[in-house]
Amino acid sequence: MKKLFLVLAILMMPLLGQAKIKALVVSCVDYRLTSDDLPKFIKEMNLVKQADLITIPGASLAGVYQTKAKDLDDLRPAFYDMLDFLKKVHGFEWVYVVDHRDCGMYKYVYKDKFAKDRADETCQHETNMKALKKILEERGLKTRFFLMSLDGTYEELLAEK
Ligand SMILES: [Zn+2]
Repeated sequence: MKKLFLVLAILMMPLLGQAKIKALVVSCVDYRLTSDDLPKFIKEMNLVKQADLITIPGASLAGVYQTKAKDLDDLRPAFYDMLDFLKKVHGFEWVYVVDHRDCGMYKYVYKDKFAKDRADETCQHETNMKALKKILEERGLKTRFFLMSLDGTYEELLAEK
C-alpha cells in the first residue's frame, strides 16, 4: 500500500508544483501570428518544452485592462487566474509577454486614439507593458517584453541595458 502511494505521488509530481519550467509566454490570440511566428519566437528564445503558453487578446493589455467597456471585464481576472495557477503547478520565474503591431484588441480599446504611426504604436504598448511589469514583479516574477510585427520580426521593449 505504501509503495502504491509513493508511485502515485511520483506520478502526480508535475501536478503538485514539482515540475519546474523556465517561463510563461503570454501572447495575443491573433491568428496571423500564433500558428507560425509565435512557435518560431519560442524556439529562438530557447523556450521549447520550457514554457507554458497563454494566449489572450491584447496580451499586455489584458493584464492591465481597465475600462468602462463592460463586455471585456472578464479578461483581466482570466489573465491572472491562469497565470497564478500555472505558476503554482510549474514554478516558472520568468514571464515573456509578446504584443504585436496592428493588434485588433488595441484598436478595440483605443478606438480613435489608436496609434497613428509606428512610434506611437510602440509607445502605447510600452505604457501597458510598464504597468504590467510592475504588477508581475510584485508577484515575484521576472519579465521580458516583446513587440512583434506581422512579418514575425520582433523587438524587445523595456530591456534593461
Ligand atoms: Zn492582437
